[in-house]
Amino acid sequence: MTCEELIAHLSSYLDHEMDAALVAEVQEHIARCRNCRVVLDTTQRLIVLVHDEGRRVIPASQRSALFERLQQAFLNRPQTLENSNLRTAEDSAV
Ligand SMILES: [Zn+2]
Repeated sequence: MTCEELIAHLSSYLDHEMDAALVAEVQEHIARCRNCRVVLDTTQRLIVLVHDEGRRVIPASQRSALFERLQQAFLNRPQTLENSNLRTAEDSAV
């Protein structure tokens, strides 16, 4: 699995709507790819954050915007991922 494939599957992975075989591929990928680990981590924390605010799920429109944004941030990533791209996604999602 490539980074791009992982990002494309991120939404179904986090929703647990993914084939066991694909889940294994995702887990194998994040075990060796730090960038994807950071993206996955950030996304998971965002979702928990939204839960903590009392909303059960992120509205579909907001979710797709969020994933689109993460995907953009990822594909256009500079040297590090812990920069303004992901912060901006986080800030605007709240
Ligand atoms: Zn990766």
